[in-house]
Amino acid sequence: MTAKIIDGKAIAKKLRAEYHARVEVLRSRYNVTPALAVILVGDNPASQSYVRNKIAGCKEVGIRSELVELPASTTEEQLLDHIERLNNDVTVHGILVQLPLPAHIRVPSVIEKISVEKDVDGFHLYNMGGLVTGNTVFSPCTPYGVQKILEHENIRVEGQNVVVVGASNIVGKPTALMLMQQDATVVICHKKTRDLGHFTLLADILVVAAGVPNLIVPQIVKTGAVVIDVGFNRLPDGRIVGDVDFEGVKEKASYITPVPGGVGQMTVTMLLHNTILSAERAATATTSPFRRRA
Ligand code: NAP
Repeated sequence: MTAKIIDGKAIAKKLRAEYHARVEVLRSRYNVTPALAVILVGDNPASQSYVRNKIAGCKEVGIRSELVELPASTTEEQLLDHIERLNNDVTVHGILVQLPLPAHIRVPSVIEKISVEKDVDGFHLYNMGGLVTGNTVFSPCTPYGVQKILEHENIRVEGQNVVVVGASNIVGKPTALMLMQQDATVVICHKKTRDLGHFTLLADILVVAAGVPNLIVPQIVKTGAVVIDVGFNRLPDGRIVGDVDFEGVKEKASYITPVPGGVGQMTVTMLLHNTILSAERAATATTSPFRRRA
């Protein structure tokens, strides 16, 4: 069997065209331009590149972006003040603080400071908790991108065995919860899982987000499985690879995402979606989604 290679770039392009149309409706009907504020602390080159990518995505679909660049010496209190200002700014619909932050700033207090209604990354405790009850205000972007890929390819989730390799708060755990919400039977594996292959061989849908190149080889993949590779690793020779032995596994799977060109394209796209959704809610709701649900 040779897998269908899922073109994340094409799916992202199609979705972005739809989002562009939604932005036009917001403009013409409500005179609202969706806006995303991105806070970047320090000069980490990888973070700068991620932020550039997000801002370019905003431009592509017509979202206004506001970049707040702060020096690495910024105190936690100063950062919280910036977030407070943006929380109170009705022209801003989404707030994103690019991680990682300098070591002297506590990430949880920063994330909890962001208004739930503007937490377009979906990292606030309220949004995290909502994944358990199926009641998030915003879904976290990478897991949401995985879900959208499955939807786009008409891959049934209900009743399927899903194995998620990786249990981080931003990818593995939320992905598992979102797919469980769609009535999959879900297993989460992590570094201390004994005999990883014992579990992955059961997977109808295998989602891998461990950050370990070549972790998933054909011998531990079920024939016909759908394999979604979230991993993004830079090898010493500069090549970007995922966590899956792509060449080997594509001969055994039914669907597979490449790296690059798979899930990575979807993460920023879902951030754009969440920002537009926030603007739509602000334009049309008389009460906030947070208060409605609380
Ligand atoms: P992370 O916080 O480092 O978490 C990695 C998870 O994988 C942990 O739960 C860890 O287990 C588990 N793990 C590590 N080695 C393992 C092994 N040998 N067997 C089984 N599980 C193992 O990383 P992350 O932020 O979730 O990111 C994971 C990968 O996805 C990275 O390559 C990252 O670059 C990529 N990523 C891509 C996107 C995108 O848009 N494409 C977005 C986010 C992340 P423990 O919990 O036991 O430590």
